[in-house]
Amino acid sequence: MDFNAEIISVGSELLLGQILNTNAQFLSKELALLGINVYHHTAVGDNAYRMKNVIQNAQERANFIILTGGLGPTKDDVTKQTLAKLLQAELVYDKDALTKIMNYFKKANRTMTENNRKQALVIKGAHVLENKTGMAPGMVYVHNEIIYILLPGPPHELQPMFLNEVKPFLHKQGYLSHFIISRVLRFYGIGESQLESELEDLIENQTNPTIAPLATRGEVTIRLTARGKTEKEVNELLDKEEKKVLERTGRYFYGYDSTSLPLEVSKLLEQKNLRIASAESLTGGLFSQLLTKVSGAGSIFNGGIVSYTDEVKENILQVPRDILQRDGAVSSNCALKMAENVRDLLQADIGISFTGVAGPSKSENKEIGTVFIGLAFKKEPTVVYPLNLVGSRDTIRKSSANYGFYYLLKHLKKGE
Ligand code: ATP
Repeated sequence: MDFNAEIISVGSELLLGQILNTNAQFLSKELALLGINVYHHTAVGDNAYRMKNVIQNAQERANFIILTGGLGPTKDDVTKQTLAKLLQAELVYDKDALTKIMNYFKKANRTMTENNRKQALVIKGAHVLENKTGMAPGMVYVHNEIIYILLPGPPHELQPMFLNEVKPFLHKQGYLSHFIISRVLRFYGIGESQLESELEDLIENQTNPTIAPLATRGEVTIRLTARGKTEKEVNELLDKEEKKVLERTGRYFYGYDSTSLPLEVSKLLEQKNLRIASAESLTGGLFSQLLTKVSGAGSIFNGGIVSYTDEVKENILQVPRDILQRDGAVSSNCALKMAENVRDLLQADIGISFTGVAGPSKSENKEIGTVFIGLAFKKEPTVVYPLNLVGSRDTIRKSSANYGFYYLLKHLKKGE
């Protein structure tokens, strides 16, 4: 079936500029992957009259209408009421959603009001989409050959609902003639242009799958997108293309889709039952912060010392004074001692250290971007990686922390 979609985002906050319409962006990307053309985005406030006009306009020009937001319990949440009235449909209580809401209030020991019950109202005859991360259920309702999809506003409710409920439903109903699946390959330690030149012929001759290089978060990613009649066929196409890509660039590859370097490092430390400690100078605790952002960090991270001045490096981290005087704090020897000593002081299996010049001016007569990362594993000689980074102070600090994760990952993967 040929669809022509319109996304109607509901919420006065959008019109006041208080929030960015990331739901429309997310849905547009997803619909493009499903081969559904999106011709219009509309945003409207929480006002029944204006919402009705917007829906009527959409009915004239689209046969696939997604409404997001306004499914909540408050008085200004009027999306489903407005649509139901316009389509002369009835609103009925969805038993499962109502039970869920009632249980929630019972458990939280809070009084449930009529407004809370209202969240469980759905359009009679609609396919109800369970909200696994919130209260208000979503809906798919087909009327006069137009598909209406109602989704909650909060992105953490809308996104899983779209991916796990809407997409499978559309496939099951036969609304989508083919499967389109994307797989993101994440790389570190290689620039976008170098990666592109390694894959030049594959990119030039791409058909199905397509290959799209992207640079985000200081990393390079490749998105492979394939289409086919079945999920199996699409995954096989992706596997084949991934193999070709990784044959050339595998040494820089570290993970799939939405993973991150800290997440991959944490998983490996956990698997190997290893604990780490950090000594950070130029990164000022950034490495520790990124590591502790991952849940379960308590089982892999002992702690960190932000050793910014020479005094702290000497007195707390016990870096010998002659190293600081002879080689300086920004030196391979200092990084080596910082890593070994923090490992032993904090009784960890691995010590990692960061020292360098983030700018804006030179330090110890060393160039901006000179960075040393030390990695001290027990029973292995300590290694120090020298780097010459470019960019702003912020970029140099972030890149240093990321390189730390990257080298750690390489070490942890060695011998696997
Ligand atoms: P709730 O049950 O939480 O009331 P709802 O379906 O009624 O959800 P809204 O009240 O319209 O949704 O929005 C709730 C929150 O979701 C907003 O405050 C905002 O943080 C987020 N949100 C809503 N619409 C969008 C959008 N289009 N893009 C990004 N975030 C949005």
